[in-house]
Amino acid sequence: MSGFRPWQATGKTKHSVAVKSSCANGHEHDSKREAKRCDQLHMLAKGGAISDIVSQPFYAFGTAKMANGHRAGVTLDFGYTEDGKPVVEDVKGGSKKADSRDWPLRKAMFAYFYPGIELREVRKV
Ligand SMILES: [Zn+2]
Repeated sequence: MSGFRPWQATGKTKHSVAVKSSCANGHEHDSKREAKRCDQLHMLAKGGAISDIVSQPFYAFGTAKMANGHRAGVTLDFGYTEDGKPVVEDVKGGSKKADSRDWPLRKAMFAYFYPGIELREVRKV
């Protein structure tokens, strides 16, 4: 069999937060925090503070490709417009220690390729 992935050997998933959680809008999110944040964002949208909410937007790092042929980039949790400006968010654990090891690099690459978009790390949901 091909397709063996090291993290399957221990029965753990690749991400530490594996439980899917649905929000009030019926989406499936990767974590409870994310589902809760989605609900908060939709409340903000109802109140008119933000608009154009998107889930899991992908931002390519130029035309860079990874060894598997996929485009290199970062998938964030949410994107929206606030005061006419684009904002993206990634919902993180309460502690920076829980961040994935490549997050600082992805964050730096995002800032380099998308200087006009504000990236917010949301730790308190
Ligand atoms: Zn949602």
